[in-house]
Formats: sequence, C-alpha cells, structure tokens
Amino acid sequence: NKQVIFRDYVSGFPKESDLFISSSTTKLKLPEGSNGVLVKNLYLSCDPYLRIRMRKIDDPNNLFQSFIPGSPLRGYGVAKILESGHPDFKEGDLVWGTTGWEEYSLITDPQQLFKINHTDVPLSYYTGILGMPGMTAYAGFYEVCSPKKGEYVFISAASGAVGQLVGQFAKLTGCYVVGSAGSKEKVDLLKNRFGFDEAFNYKEEHDLNAALKRYFPQGIDIYFENVGGKMLDAVILNMRVHGRIAVCGMVSQYNLQEPEGVHNLMHIVYKRVRIEGFAVFDYYHLYSKFLDLVLPQIKKGKITYVEDIAQGLESAPAALVGLFSGQNVGKQVVAIAPE
Ligand code: NDP
Repeated sequence: NKQVIFRDYVSGFPKESDLFISSSTTKLKLPEGSNGVLVKNLYLSCDPYLRIRMRKIDDPNNLFQSFIPGSPLRGYGVAKILESGHPDFKEGDLVWGTTGWEEYSLITDPQQLFKINHTDVPLSYYTGILGMPGMTAYAGFYEVCSPKKGEYVFISAASGAVGQLVGQFAKLTGCYVVGSAGSKEKVDLLKNRFGFDEAFNYKEEHDLNAALKRYFPQGIDIYFENVGGKMLDAVILNMRVHGRIAVCGMVSQYNLQEPEGVHNLMHIVYKRVRIEGFAVFDYYHLYSKFLDLVLPQIKKGKITYVEDIAQGLESAPAALVGLFSGQNVGKQVVAIAPE
C-alpha cells in the first residue's frame, strides 16, 4: 500500500518535502466483525483546509485537528468498495468522502461516505463540482448569501474549485458577477468559459480598493470570501447597504504565523453588512437537493467545470503544495488508480 505521509508540523508555506511517499507490501484486510469498509482510492482532492491541519493545533475544540506526524494525510476522495461490513455498502459501490492519501484505506466510520449513483459524468467530479467544493458553493451562495436577481456579486479565488461554481450559480440567478484570480489564464477562463461579467488579476492591482471601484461603481451586494487579508479589507469599503459577506475561507492567511489585520471593520456598521462564516458539513443534508439542481445543468451544458488532474500518488505532494502559489487551474485533483 503506497501512502502519502505527513512528515511533521508545518510553519510558513508548505513544501513538497513536508510530505513523503512510503510503500509497504502488507495487504489490508477488513477485520472480522468490522462494520467498516475497505476501499481502493481512485481520486484524491487537494483542498486548502489540509494546510490548516498541517499546523500544530492544541485546542481540542477547534473545527480542525492536526494531522499526526508519520501518518498518512486524510482528505476527501473518490473510492471503490472492495470489502464491506456495513449494510449500506457492498463490493463494487463507488463512494466519495473522507479517505486516506493512499492506494487502499480501511474506513471505520463509513456512514460519512456518500454513495455515487450517477456515473454518467466524470468520476473525478465527485472531488469537485459534485462533491465537497460543489456543496460549499451551493450552501455558501444560496443558503448564506440570500441572493436576488440583479445584485452585484464579487468572488475571490474565483477560478478555483469553489469559486468557478459560485460564479455560475450567481449568473443563473441573474446577478452581475465579477471574479478575481491570480493569472491571465484564470481571468480569461472566468470571462470566456464561466460567463463572469468581468474578472481581474489581483496580482496586477496595486490598489485593490480602486480596482473594486472600477468594477463596482455602485458597490457590492454579495462578497463570496475565499482569500481574506487585504482583499477582504478592500471589499468591506465597497460593500453596499445591507450587503452580505459569506466567509468561506481565507487562503491568503493559512501560511502566515500572524494573520493580517483588517482595518475597515467599522464599515460593517455603516453599511449594516451581514458577515457570516460557514462550514460545508453543516449543509450535507441538502446534498440530494443540490444534485437535483446541478446534474441537469451539467448535462445540458449550462454549468461547466474545469479540473486540473495530476497523475499518480507520487504527484500528490506537489499538487497539494501548488494550491498555495496558485499553480492549479481549476479544481486540483490527483488521479491515483484507473476507474
Ligand atoms: P482553489 O481551487 O481556489 O485553490 C486555491 C487558490 O487560492 C489558488 O489556486 C490561488 O488562486 C488562491 N490563492 C492561493 N494563495 C493565495 C493568496 N495568498 N492570496 C490570494 N489567493 C490565493 O481552492 P478551493 O476552491 O478549494 O477553496 C477556496 C476557499 O474555500 C479556500 O479558502 C478554502 O479554504 C475554502 N473552503 C471552505 C469550505 C467551508 O466549508 N467553509 C469548504 C471548502 C473550501 P489564484 O491563482 O487565483 O491566486
């Protein structure tokens, strides 16, 4: 069983060498009487929150707990059931959910896996548009932002796993949508593939406030926050009265020892802005409703999705680390076994 092992707690930017590949010839078996499952992992999902789990977290009440040095990473993936002791799963079933960064995994709590019933779309989609990031876009946009037709929507890290879908949801709702991303290639994708009204490269803007004023002379109703830091500060200045900010994540802060200060918070009061953090797993009960919305739109070609697929477990460390310098164009996936 080949595995991606977490070497030790990380401070600063993660490096490929913070992870290493180990191989063992021991064959995994489901223990007698277990109600778990043995799976073969097919795709792994590279997600920014994994960086949070690479730091030392001492608070047992934190939303995230540290990975254990010397153990394989755990994260979302798509897998095939090889053996099952659980009544809901049988050999051959395809599932998505939390698994190990390894070829084969024993999953002792399979009730948190989702069975994959629609296989007429790429299976890798269950790490992205039809998996956790897709549900994040759905819950964050529809449940947290309370969007209305005609509203002005801004999305940061807009070409990524979550952002590209938020933008398309916002367009379907009839909003005016602008995204920021870190390269020309990504900006072009936003405008030409995902149908954003406008997009800009935040790395080329020395004054983010001025950039936002250019795209939103009338202000922003909804901000879907993926990056935090200076961008959040500039957005707060540009919010409209009764605007909403869904705080999905703050990827620009994950590698900093001291988070950057946000200075414009009084504008939350002046503009009566609602700012709300959310965690996708509080919304998984909406998964089938989400699929009913998204699957037909994918099949009709009304919603599209861009993936960046790295091949082989050996490529997983570089793929994960690459998220923090924006190497990924679209959803970063690692394909580890043929379907
Ligand atoms: P992405 O696919 O967007 O990948 C990360 C991207 O972040 C990079 O491609 C890069 O894009 C951008 N980025 C990296 N470093 C910085 C930086 N210093 N400043 C600005 N941008 C940066 O990731 P996801 O779509 O999977 O995740 C987006 C956000 O959603 C993250 O904050 C994540 O933690 C959060 N999240 C929250 C969930 C929840 O339940 N609340 C669930 C899932 C995700 P670029 O080239 O454009 O800079």
